[in-house]
Amino acid sequence: MAIDNCGYTSQLNYNFISAFTPPPATMIRFHITKKGILKFFKRLAIGVVSLILLFFILNWIFPLPDKIEYSTIITDNKGEVINAYLTSDQKWRMKTELNEISPLLRKTIIAKEDKYFYSHPGVNAVAVTRAFFKNLFRMKRISGASTITMQVARALEPRKRNIISKIIEMFRAFQLELKYSKDEILQMYLNLVPYGGNIEGVKSASQLYFKKNPDHLSLAEITALSIIPNRPSSLVMGKNNDRIVEERNRWLKKFASDKVFTEKEIEDALAEPLIASRGTVPHYIPHLAYKLKKQGSDLIQTNIDLNTQLKTEKLVEDYIRTQRLRNIKNAAIVIIDNRKHKVITYVGSSGFADSTDGGQVNGANAVRQPGSTLKPLLYATCFDEGLLTPKAVVTDVAVNYQGYAPENYDQKFNGYVTVEYSLDHSLNIPAVKSLKLLGRDKLIHQLVECDFRQIQKDQRKLGLSMILGGCGTTLEDLTGMFSLFANNGDYVSPAYVQADTHHVTKHIVSPAAAFMINEILSKVGRPDFPLNWSATERMPKIAWKTGTSYGRRDAWSIGYNKNYTVGVWVGNFSGVGVADLSGANVATPLLFKIFNTIDYDSDEEWFTQPKDCDIRQVCSETGLIPTDHCTNLTTDYFIPLVSSNQSCNNMQEIMISADEKISYCKSCAPENGYKKKWYKLMEPDMQSWYEDNHIAYAKIPPHNPDCELIFKGNAPFITFPVNGSEYLISKKSPDPLQLVCKTSNDVSKAYWYINDKFYKMANAGEKQFFIPQEGPVKISCTDDKGRNRDIKITVRYVNL
Ligand SMILES: [Zn+2]
Ligand SMILES: [Zn+2]
Repeated sequence: MAIDNCGYTSQLNYNFISAFTPPPATMIRFHITKKGILKFFKRLAIGVVSLILLFFILNWIFPLPDKIEYSTIITDNKGEVINAYLTSDQKWRMKTELNEISPLLRKTIIAKEDKYFYSHPGVNAVAVTRAFFKNLFRMKRISGASTITMQVARALEPRKRNIISKIIEMFRAFQLELKYSKDEILQMYLNLVPYGGNIEGVKSASQLYFKKNPDHLSLAEITALSIIPNRPSSLVMGKNNDRIVEERNRWLKKFASDKVFTEKEIEDALAEPLIASRGTVPHYIPHLAYKLKKQGSDLIQTNIDLNTQLKTEKLVEDYIRTQRLRNIKNAAIVIIDNRKHKVITYVGSSGFADSTDGGQVNGANAVRQPGSTLKPLLYATCFDEGLLTPKAVVTDVAVNYQGYAPENYDQKFNGYVTVEYSLDHSLNIPAVKSLKLLGRDKLIHQLVECDFRQIQKDQRKLGLSMILGGCGTTLEDLTGMFSLFANNGDYVSPAYVQADTHHVTKHIVSPAAAFMINEILSKVGRPDFPLNWSATERMPKIAWKTGTSYGRRDAWSIGYNKNYTVGVWVGNFSGVGVADLSGANVATPLLFKIFNTIDYDSDEEWFTQPKDCDIRQVCSETGLIPTDHCTNLTTDYFIPLVSSNQSCNNMQEIMISADEKISYCKSCAPENGYKKKWYKLMEPDMQSWYEDNHIAYAKIPPHNPDCELIFKGNAPFITFPVNGSEYLISKKSPDPLQLVCKTSNDVSKAYWYINDKFYKMANAGEKQFFIPQEGPVKISCTDDKGRNRDIKITVRYVNL
């Protein structure tokens, strides 16, 4: 019986035309015979049309149940399976892609299962008829005659074997042939066929029995596998291998007699031993695999380089073993290939199986405080805004921004420091000052551009403290951001999977700014260089930045060179802080070990000075363009037409009395009897720092008390506290006292002193607060023209 859609249609047309065309006169004498033939064809046509209609109606009512749930497979950058998940019905059912069905696999399966697969319409009519008569006479169970298509139908909808089931299978087979190509049906067959236990499909079988992909199976292996589905309970790989080989060889000899393969091929296959046994599915990169699985795809092709991954995992495991003595139990690593912008290693914890210390927690995407790790991006952005250069001098002394008084890590202040020094010593005050100078919004914008999602969420809440770690970031974010310094300041979101090919390049900082950061962060002999790191090791040159979060909970160290960016986090998932824990002590040694392993002895050249970066001479006391009075010069990188061209204003010539006790202005200087002297200009907060640290400096003598320009009436008037009053303060909950003053119109800044010690700088008219000590307190307010007012109050602490 010809079952071909085209055939039916043409026959149908012919009969319709015949039925409605009157017979020609010359044929009348044969009309009885012809009428009989026409009648037969008409009935046949009606029968066939009805059958087709019935099929389509049934097809519409009973659609093909062809939704197949596959195991999620995770592959490495070479396409090898490195992790997989059971389906919801607890099966290993890995999807074999069309390109994994090798010609050998196809040929062997078709030769064994269904020789006429490519020519039948889903059902092999000859085989069905033969089986029907055989079974009719012997009254045996229905057997044989199943095509590959019918086997797919049975696997999609398993049911008891009887005539009804067989008819349904045939119907389903037609449906399959209508919907899918032959190759797709073969693919479904190879994906659904059971191979013993909970293994379904040739990919799961080749992975679990032979530890390889199906396109790498040999003829002997394919044949051995192909006999399992017939007797899955009695032919068990690894248990009944001798019997499997016996059966395999029987089939191989049959292939030889059918001339499916050459004699040589059969000979080799017969000689091949079977050393398969049931293995396990690999479970590498468990944290990343779990994270990516949520995407819901059957096949997730990652960019993981398994060699680097495993080496790094080993280093982390060994390292954490030594740190346990210090009560430090967890670590996470992310490694980016800087040239390809791909994540090649991802370690979420020091051991996934470690259930006591939360090994299943993914430390690489946990939101944590970044410590000082955002400082390089801050300074790079300041360089691009023309606000700073590496040798620009900033002050590291106590500041207070509306109640926010940051301290340095060692709780000491360093006075005048360069930006370079501030960054490689990770000083906090210069960073907070620089952020205030740049503007918080600008830094947040930069971080949001670099995919810092938590910062984007929290941006309204973030203050200046964010630069010291007062914000939420992940190791993934930080490692991605640092890779921009290795990429001329351009950020490319690192790709975790091969499907992610849309490399959008975002310009974050200029090549010049990135280069300046690279130079600063790659200096050896830094204070945070690992203590016990032997100089003889052939460590590749890297730039790196450390960070330690508040409460010593998180140790960070992120390093890079042209090849890799490596992000290291060390801490405790439990959130317990450890006194010994710091980025330099705990995270950097691991960072160095990783670079020394994955990039050992690489002779890669370092970053070269880009075109938009130049060198100039600056005054070493300010980092500004030197004038004739600047005696100490140094060289500095700068960005032409961007970096500030301000000349050094460090020194000022002042008129003073011969005994150097009084200073004069132009209006009060006597005609003679005065001299001129150069003084270094200093803000009151720096003067105060010099005094606190007993550092001698040339102080400008007080201004001429007889000067008409500076008379008492214009000095700030302290309205609160009230001069001469007594203030009672609660011992239990002391409330601060307000400091309020009125200043002249020409004043923009007021400086407050408590008991002759600098306390705080304020804008004119701005209130300040302080908690005084018990007893008499002297409060002074000096304006920016040098006019001063003192008052005295008395403070008593009482039980209120
Ligand atoms: Zn100077
Ligand atoms: Zn004067």
